[in-house]
Amino acid sequence: MSPSRLALILVSFILLSAAVAPSQELNSTFARDPVQPIDQQYTDQIHKYTTDPSFISPLVDYLPASKTVPTPAKMLGDIAGAPDMLPYAEDVYKYFRLLAANSPRVKVFTIGHSEEGREMIAAAVADPKLLAGAKENDARLAQLADPRTINLDDAKARQLVDQSWPIYYITGTIHSPETGAPTALMELAYRLAVDDAPYVKYIRSHMIVLITPVVEVDGRDRMVDIYNWHKAHPGQTWPRLLYWGHYVAHDNNRDAMAMTLGLTRNVLDTYLAWHAQVLHDLHESVPFLYDNTVGDGPYNAWADPTLADEWAELGWNNVAQMQSFGMPGVFTHGDFDTWSPGYLMFLAGLHNGISRLYETFGNGGADTEKRILRPEDYSRTWYRQNPPLPVVKWSQRDNNNYEESALLSTLYYFSHNTHHFLENYYLKSKRAVEKPSLEGPAAYVIPQDPAETNRQIELLKVMKRQHVEVEELSDAVTSTVPGEKRGDKPRQETFPAGSLVIRMDQPYSRVADALLDRQFWAAGDPQKHPYDDTGWSFSHLFNLKVVRVLDPSILKSKMARLDDPAKLAGNVAGAGAVLAVANTGQVSLLPLAYKLKGAAIQVAEKSFDVDGKHFAAGSLLITGFPENQIEGILRDLALDALRLAAAPSVPVHLVTVPRIAFMHTWLGTQTEGWWRYAFDTAGVPFDYISTQAVASEQDLHSKYDVIVFAPVGRSSTQEILNGIPMWNNPMPWQKSELTPNLGAIDSTSDIRPGLGFEGLAHLKQFIEQGGLLITCEDTAQFAIETSLAPGVSLAPHGDVRIVGSVLNTVFVDTDNPIAFGYGKGVPVISASGTAFNVSHTLGRTGGRVLMDPLTDPLDPYAKRETGRGSVDDSDVPQGRKTVEPEPLVKQQPWEAAHLDEEQTRNNPLVIPVQSRPDVILRFSDAKTLLLDGLLDKGSSIAEHAVVVNAHLGQGNVLLFGNNPVYRGETIGTYALVFNAILNYQHLTHEPASTDKQLPVTREIPGQESIEHEAGR
Ligand SMILES: [Zn+2]
Repeated sequence: MSPSRLALILVSFILLSAAVAPSQELNSTFARDPVQPIDQQYTDQIHKYTTDPSFISPLVDYLPASKTVPTPAKMLGDIAGAPDMLPYAEDVYKYFRLLAANSPRVKVFTIGHSEEGREMIAAAVADPKLLAGAKENDARLAQLADPRTINLDDAKARQLVDQSWPIYYITGTIHSPETGAPTALMELAYRLAVDDAPYVKYIRSHMIVLITPVVEVDGRDRMVDIYNWHKAHPGQTWPRLLYWGHYVAHDNNRDAMAMTLGLTRNVLDTYLAWHAQVLHDLHESVPFLYDNTVGDGPYNAWADPTLADEWAELGWNNVAQMQSFGMPGVFTHGDFDTWSPGYLMFLAGLHNGISRLYETFGNGGADTEKRILRPEDYSRTWYRQNPPLPVVKWSQRDNNNYEESALLSTLYYFSHNTHHFLENYYLKSKRAVEKPSLEGPAAYVIPQDPAETNRQIELLKVMKRQHVEVEELSDAVTSTVPGEKRGDKPRQETFPAGSLVIRMDQPYSRVADALLDRQFWAAGDPQKHPYDDTGWSFSHLFNLKVVRVLDPSILKSKMARLDDPAKLAGNVAGAGAVLAVANTGQVSLLPLAYKLKGAAIQVAEKSFDVDGKHFAAGSLLITGFPENQIEGILRDLALDALRLAAAPSVPVHLVTVPRIAFMHTWLGTQTEGWWRYAFDTAGVPFDYISTQAVASEQDLHSKYDVIVFAPVGRSSTQEILNGIPMWNNPMPWQKSELTPNLGAIDSTSDIRPGLGFEGLAHLKQFIEQGGLLITCEDTAQFAIETSLAPGVSLAPHGDVRIVGSVLNTVFVDTDNPIAFGYGKGVPVISASGTAFNVSHTLGRTGGRVLMDPLTDPLDPYAKRETGRGSVDDSDVPQGRKTVEPEPLVKQQPWEAAHLDEEQTRNNPLVIPVQSRPDVILRFSDAKTLLLDGLLDKGSSIAEHAVVVNAHLGQGNVLLFGNNPVYRGETIGTYALVFNAILNYQHLTHEPASTDKQLPVTREIPGQESIEHEAGR
């Protein structure tokens, strides 16, 4: 460090220290109770573990003593935020229960369990009077939350506001490597229960603070294991946290839309059961405290505008309070747009509350570390006048000081404005109910359609988890609906009886609106770094017809509440021993095959009509099923069926359910975790094996028929093959005395080795022997780069901009079993526009053709010379006989270039016809490509292949450019994967007769033909 640099740091240090002292004296708002004794030993430890005097506030630089209530040290053996230790969730809970047992100001509740059965809790902290009256208070809040109950009567609401206490719900450590919140919340609860500082007394007598100290409880326990292993192995590298929750890692904070995970459901159920006003989620990343309550634009388009005002009010106030304590590096505007409603805290944002989130600085454990910041983190900007220090020694205690100081000061502010926030709560709820007569729409209608019932039920499950009411039309209703495009005249549409109506005159209308509406992110939006997906319309992603109805007259139609969506399906009509189940792109045809393992299941290869009902190709004809159980099974799986006296005369193939393996890496398990979630939820069994297991398993084909290699998440082929560098020590991921929570999902003595070339050879052999390998995004790229998918290459992205957008597609090969049950196309989610090119030869990609931007490389006639006739005509040289040229074939972007005799003659790189890749699905043209979100310069990927089935030996490699199984949101594309699995033995071509003999030739083809062909 240069002397001048050191001097600078010293000067700033002195200045900061100088700034702290007077503020403590001047600011009497947070003065402690002069007569309440402090716990000196605990207080001494707080100061010892705080690495810089500016990293603490007068709110937390002492701990009040209590004769009856134990401090966190009782449970932890040291203070909250002490270095070198992290408590397990169970120990955190023990402390909260100890608090509850010893303080009348604390109550603890179980709020549910995780996927692995671990408990989640919430603690309520307030004066005993408030806790005793919590039930009556909640009855009042429930009326404010649902203004229909008081006929939207503002005078009545005002009375209720006057009588009620608000609820402020704080949640900690949803992200398991962000380790500070549990101890901060233990100490916060103690302070709220014990401290007699006037401001704390004011808080607990004016509001109830609700605390869930550990949201991702499975991940917390694994993180503590990893940390303990690290402490027991000094000097060694320790594994990253490979599994957080049972299914997903960081994405547990992207689950607030589909609500697939236990933690999301438990938090929302608690939040709504208490009718809380705020959901405040604690995270760790950037230095030192980013209260991203204000965040950045664009804001979610469906949120009530009052929410944005509340964000501004709370966020800027919180920053100012922290500034007054002299704590550096606190800001509220920053790099986080509030567009997507997928974040846990956003459950409050779209349920009429206030969503908030802190990012404090964390070290990914309890080690005290020297931290070196990047310039963008310590620069001073208009919204961060006192930026973080460029180099710091940082401790977990520092983190806890920031979290607690910010929370206590914001609770103080909230406690003095309870009336205001409760009024807002009522107003937001009221406006949600008034939506049909304000901004609209009046309702979303999901027309009754047996072909869609299965996927409709999946959507209704989401609505139920979101506490959205759904009704069923008693009679057919004709309504005016908007035209297709802007400027089109409104038209009349009749919805049959049994159609589903999601009324917008209900308290949680906003969340339904946000999920079902379409999203548009302008290419010119000043926000150039969307924080997450830009599009998510569930109407599209569930592949459903959903009509946005503006005409409020529909609300007067006769309809009845639908509480049990399951009752919509499970109908069995007809009589006979053959059961026909139509394929309409449901999520549960494959699960049915597993459920009926003893039955004979045939798949119809062509469509057929019977008893006036249409059955698409891919429908099932089942005999030998268990008569007495079949109706229950069909209802569980949300399927209808028709009994037939005899099988229709239609070509069929018999299917037996395949043995499936999921192959995962030890690099990352989140994106594949969403696939595991989908398969488990649907009821499709699989073995779970790692790339290391594949490396040591010579004969995969004797064990498995299908291997699913779901996305790793931005990994490269080198990483998949090589794994983690072997330079340092082995890193085990397995159950041990030190790490009891590791290894249950899968285990290894060393996570470093990857698939390796042996594993690749085993995989190749598995496919060649007839296996099906399913790949997606980065694993599709892996299949291409390792020659498992001959004839397939990645389409160049050009300058396309896509960030988690919903795109339109068209089926190319509608007879292919993978397309069974679908219509013309299906909306897909595309992370960044991955698409494929296909070719009938192997060879290099790129080439000369792309060098000439003036001609369309796909249109051979675009290159014709000046001469007679039109562009489609041949020129005619004068004064000689005319010889007609061979017709040129215009190639479409999703097609392989046509090869003529010249190009195939003695060309060893030409792929035999039966081995040429099949394009199943392609993107639609540039004009119609975008459904939801951001799409800029889409022409480079428009019309390109997005789902391709490649052939290798006797087997198949299925490649997805979109992610068909993603975050529980892509119900509409699950069947692409399930169709492939059910029909895995029927994805190869019959060898074509023309292909058996390729033309014998005289000369080796020129390089040009290969380049020309590959240069698409
Ligand atoms: Zn986080």
